[in-house]
Amino acid sequence: MKIRHILLLNPPGRKLYTRDYFCSKVTKAGYVEHPLDLLILSGIFSSAGFRVSVLDAQAGRQAPEPAFNHIVSLRPDAVVFLSGLVSRQEDYAFLERLKKAMPRVLFAGMGDLFLKKMVFENTAWMDAVFYDFTSGECADFLSGRRGQFSTISFRDGNDIIYRVPVQDRGEFSIPVPRHDLFLNKGYTFPFARKLPFATVLTDYGCPFSCPFCVYPTLGFRLRRLQNVTEELRYIRSLGIRELFVKDQSFGADRGRSMRLCEEMRNIGGFSWTCFLRADVAREDLLRGMKAAGCHTVLFGFESGCDRILRSYKPGVNKRMIVDALRKCRRSGIKSVGIFIFGFPEDDIGTCRETADFAVRCGCDYVSFNVFVPKAGTPLRNKLMPDDSSGEKEEVLDQSGIASVWSGSPVSAEELNRLRVRAIRRFYFRPSYLFGMAAASLFSLCRLRMCLRSAFFILQDVLAKRR
Ligand code: SF4
Repeated sequence: MKIRHILLLNPPGRKLYTRDYFCSKVTKAGYVEHPLDLLILSGIFSSAGFRVSVLDAQAGRQAPEPAFNHIVSLRPDAVVFLSGLVSRQEDYAFLERLKKAMPRVLFAGMGDLFLKKMVFENTAWMDAVFYDFTSGECADFLSGRRGQFSTISFRDGNDIIYRVPVQDRGEFSIPVPRHDLFLNKGYTFPFARKLPFATVLTDYGCPFSCPFCVYPTLGFRLRRLQNVTEELRYIRSLGIRELFVKDQSFGADRGRSMRLCEEMRNIGGFSWTCFLRADVAREDLLRGMKAAGCHTVLFGFESGCDRILRSYKPGVNKRMIVDALRKCRRSGIKSVGIFIFGFPEDDIGTCRETADFAVRCGCDYVSFNVFVPKAGTPLRNKLMPDDSSGEKEEVLDQSGIASVWSGSPVSAEELNRLRVRAIRRFYFRPSYLFGMAAASLFSLCRLRMCLRSAFFILQDVLAKRR
């Protein structure tokens, strides 16, 4: 069947999930971010001449039955969907039923679970897996091209043609993503100062080598600056002024990041958030970012124990973290520290050390996750050399809400207690509450965000782990 109409689908779920860019977890605090993979593909498919529809049942809080009927009524020729290790079972049940209702429609999946070895096992309904959402091969495949791909595995009759990956470190460009298709769909982000906001990607993968992380396995490629600015101008033309720059480590190429900040300044009027590493947070870079509108940076600090940092965050230690936070304060940029409990070498003592450090290190906000052995990472290969985890049973959720990895050195109950206690200690300090209340006085959007966050933090603290 010739494919003309492609549906980009973020399936419904029993819980609210974040599933994109090879990560999946239960969403914290009720926020739903743009599904980056679908966003980027919207531009690639549109520019290749396909008609593109988007159904994000997560952002729309759509239940499975209405979502199912909606999809069937759209009559797509191909469904490109997201799934994740956090929601595999329910996604597959939903998608298999869809395929039965629309047997001639092509189904192609993306997500962290496809980085596991047994991708096509028990998935007769699935036709293909896309491994790189920035690749033009996705459009070629849906246009009917067959043969060997470097970013796509697919069924060809009874055969499965596996991709032959190529590590590409060059620059790349993509057609401008169709941000217009993702407007007014209910996306929210805790650090956005204005709504609506747009999500932007200016590079792909990561040049660092934290062994628990999937991004270095993707290689590292930078988007051409001219291509990025073209997208930024388009975003401005839609009236959007708030950005989440979803590069996994902004500033990895400092000179290029400075030039990008300059371009953003020239376009003007943006305020934005991004990820940064502590050892990259130099004063001149932070100043450039601030001048370009950056107001908040997210740091994956991971641990408050130097021994754990040496193993899992090579090149970063506690002293650097404190120093980076000081520089952020001096530059007028807010900081978010993201920590992980339950690394394979953690114990109760090191987890408590992490919680203490998180409270004292000087972040403006914190977030706590639990360790999961992410598919495709060197650490998972070391911990599970034959990757014998049951394909059906394994649910991995780095938020720690849906499940905790069965090999965790600290029990699920203890991890949850640590997480809840750390949240309470950080956010319920009188000085912290007073500061937040004062800041909210001057911004209605900030006040709304604070109230919303407070509601979900309370819910998280009071709830038992499901
Ligand atoms: S944890 Fe961050 S810095 Fe480390 S490899 Fe992953 S994305 Fe890169």
